Amino acid sequence: MDLMEYQAKELFAKHDVPVQLGTVITDAADAAAAAEAHGGRVVVKAQVKTGGRGKAGGVKLARDPQEAEARAKEILGMDIKGHTVRRVLVAPAADIAEEYYFSFLVDRAHRNYLCIASIEGGVEIEVTAVENPDAVAKVAIDPLVGVDDAKAAEIVAATRFPAEVADQAAEVIRRLWDVFIKEDATLVEVNPLVKLADGRLEALDGKVTLDGNSDFRQPAHPAFELREEEDPLELAAKEKDLNYVKLDGAVGIIGNGAGLVMSTLDVVAYAGEQHGGVEPANFLDIGGGASAQVMADGLHIILNDPQVKAVFVNVFGGITACDAVADGIVHALEMLGDEANKPLVVRLDGNNVEEGHRILAEANHPLVTMVDTMDGAADKVAELANA
Ligand code: GDP
Ligand code: MN
Repeated sequence: MDLMEYQAKELFAKHDVPVQLGTVITDAADAAAAAEAHGGRVVVKAQVKTGGRGKAGGVKLARDPQEAEARAKEILGMDIKGHTVRRVLVAPAADIAEEYYFSFLVDRAHRNYLCIASIEGGVEIEVTAVENPDAVAKVAIDPLVGVDDAKAAEIVAATRFPAEVADQAAEVIRRLWDVFIKEDATLVEVNPLVKLADGRLEALDGKVTLDGNSDFRQPAHPAFELREEEDPLELAAKEKDLNYVKLDGAVGIIGNGAGLVMSTLDVVAYAGEQHGGVEPANFLDIGGGASAQVMADGLHIILNDPQVKAVFVNVFGGITACDAVADGIVHALEMLGDEANKPLVVRLDGNNVEEGHRILAEANHPLVTMVDTMDGAADKVAELANA
């Protein structure tokens, strides 16, 4: 789960990383009071789960409470890269002397942790990495050792933090490591980490990704979930315990097993090249038990995606045999009634496939087309989605 800036800063504060928490508001009418509480001179910042808010006009300074209200009015409701701004953070304005970049992340390619840091922060680190690679330090971190004093000193030296902030930087780095490890994060990024005019360091922005697999030992984390920020279809799928990811294409996809679903996405994208470039609309793995209820839940989600033009049900009968899956499809269509209004291409294979075919043939549902091979079915569904 990705956190908003203000949530990331709450975790920073919990682990004694220097931050100004500020106040989050959803109504511009509350901006003046919030600004007043933070000394009048504030920064008003869009809270959306995407970077580049500053460039998009979502980060504005205000000299006094009236101005803060005007800025909040402008920023609330703004669209930043497809994200609607529903809340803004009002925080004391910082007097910035220097901007640095700092992050800890999981380095999957090297099966390790990695620190990326630069004294040229504030801008996108990807740009710095291309234009001035020498300015970007990368320090590998042994997971069994973590960031001890020696590692913190190594990072400070590699980054070439100025001497006057070196000790502070080492301290902030150890505390950010606490955030990374103790909160089970896969990413902790601070851009910019600033040196203030008075010489103190402060995390002025924060991006944290929490590892959902650790929720069992992180009872405080689910509270970070913001329902209204989530895709409504993904939310509905989560409530039904379905493994669903929305994509942008027109071919709805249901399969059993993550591997089969992923290869289904590939064959559909490939077949789509012959049919107007149609692409998969989603990933949906209904797992082992393809019961009528699970099938109906899955179809319900997919059919409610207005981008979907046709659906591909690709199931390999294993422990749940094809006849049970076929029964599931037939009953799901009965349960959905008029809601089932888009063509379905069904490909069954595996255990009891003949009986599965017989059940679907007998039901003879007008929306269902059976195709025996995965490639053939992908071609058919792409054709239907493009019609
Ligand atoms: P991002 O654009 O989404 O990464 O948002 P940031 O929080 O990083 O803000 C973007 C830029 O706005 C920062 O790099 C700073 O230069 C500037 N900024 C943010 N907060 C303040 C502040 O309190 N005072 C000043 N002077 N500038 C700020
Ligand atoms: Mn930033």
